[in-house]
Amino acid sequence: MPSINRSKTKTPMPSQDPEERSRNFNEVALGYAKEDAINEAMRCLNCKKPTCVEGCPVHVQIPNFIKHIVEEDFEGAIKVIKETNNLPAICGRVCPQEEQCEQRCVLAKRGEPVGIGRLERFAADWEMQNGIKVPEKPAPRGKKVAVIGSGPAGLTCAGDLAKLGYEVTVFEAFHEPGGVLIYGIPEFRLPKAIVRQEVEFIKKLGVEVKTNMVMGQVLTVDDLLEREGYDAVFIGTGAGLPKFLNIPGENYLGVYSANEFLTRINLMKAYNFPETDTPVKVGKKVAVVGGGNVAMDAARSALRMGAQEVHIIYRRSEEEMPARKEEVEHAKEEGIIFNFLTNPVRILGDENGWVKGIECIRMELGEPDASGRRRPVPVKGSEFVLEMDTVIIAIGTGPNPLLIRATEGIKLNKYGYIETDENGKTSKEGVWAGGDIVTGAATVILAMGAGKKAAQSIHEYLQNK
Ligand code: FAD
Ligand code: SF4
Repeated sequence: MPSINRSKTKTPMPSQDPEERSRNFNEVALGYAKEDAINEAMRCLNCKKPTCVEGCPVHVQIPNFIKHIVEEDFEGAIKVIKETNNLPAICGRVCPQEEQCEQRCVLAKRGEPVGIGRLERFAADWEMQNGIKVPEKPAPRGKKVAVIGSGPAGLTCAGDLAKLGYEVTVFEAFHEPGGVLIYGIPEFRLPKAIVRQEVEFIKKLGVEVKTNMVMGQVLTVDDLLEREGYDAVFIGTGAGLPKFLNIPGENYLGVYSANEFLTRINLMKAYNFPETDTPVKVGKKVAVVGGGNVAMDAARSALRMGAQEVHIIYRRSEEEMPARKEEVEHAKEEGIIFNFLTNPVRILGDENGWVKGIECIRMELGEPDASGRRRPVPVKGSEFVLEMDTVIIAIGTGPNPLLIRATEGIKLNKYGYIETDENGKTSKEGVWAGGDIVTGAATVILAMGAGKKAAQSIHEYLQNK
């Protein structure tokens, strides 16, 4: 068998047919078969100076794991990945590789980069099917660390500290750990069984996970440090507080924040109502306001919940849309209708208080604003009404406020996010923070990178304490 594949394009990813998948919650991308994975791995040049690794926030040794795939040593491949990444099946599915490792791959200069994410997913799925290996437990160090929030930042920090021999407890407000991975990102992009298996791996490393613990109310950070015997605390509470448009009509029935809409469907399994307790009412015509990943997820979920027509309403043009290109393509294939350069001005309701439409205005692009993107400017007199019976607002989120309000002595920036040094250390002695609660809404891998750095910094602090 040749060991080099000179194809300029990635080995295609098998996926569900758009027509069929738009009515079910099963995973869209089906994953590489063994032959696909080896074929794709053979595109890698095993560069002496692998620029792809520099593009990975947790520095997975990419050419090394890919070499193992070429050699059909899949166990070796996942071992290399797990040296630096505790959640590879998740990253292989939802990381924006096109802006990270794959963007830096040398092959991207003359064609498509190596499908690093697809190969990572293949190796992680292979391990799940063949039995997850847990590293031997290190000698206990006799020190305790509390992690608040069980999203990717908290889980990564907890896993790395457990590997170093610390006794780690994760406190999570919801009844199930995983953060946005479990309540936000839909089943058809990230099956919850995968998240649960990755959480199991973290638990097998020795981490205890306590759910239904709304920290700041049940216990404060000071309680943990002063009464409960913890030597350090990591805060990874995320940015899940929805923002609204502040336009007339947002209180009508049938208007959701994307956060509520997706939580009802993913965490509370509203698609199984009445077998499950939580319903979600999705009408025939749904408008989703926003242009990020969250908006795509809400729109595609609405379609799967039975909506006949789903519209994205976005105030800039397609070029400025922050959502991953792949997700936009998938949404288009499934029949989502995109209304670019369109901004809502008012939501209209009927006599019973239910949404019946959304009044919008056309926009045009002006000079670049602070974000570097051209500012959308309303076109006078261009208002029009779209008849809708459900509106979902997906225009961003702010910091989860509960814990930080209850924590004295922790410095916040002007937007209410926690201020830290480059290692995640906050202004409060013994307290670190990372992920969306520091950066604002970002990505899974950046949250993981922050959790990793903080774990290392906590380790150094506790060794000297
Ligand atoms: P979170 O994942 O938000 O986890 C925080 C956890 O803390 C939550 O479980 C919360 O319940 C808990 N918590 C909060 N307050 C308390 C408290 N007081 N006590 C105890 N627990 C508390 N990123 C990607 O890379 N790729 C994607 O495709 C992608 N898609 C996304 C789709 C959606 C719908 C959303 C909402 C986000 C998406 N993101 C994506 C962003 C990514 O999920 C986040 O950047 C990431 O999850 C942040 O991780 P975190 O650990 O900082 O916080
Ligand atoms: Fe392989 Fe691309 Fe990394 Fe080179 S830059 S080692 S070709 S993945």
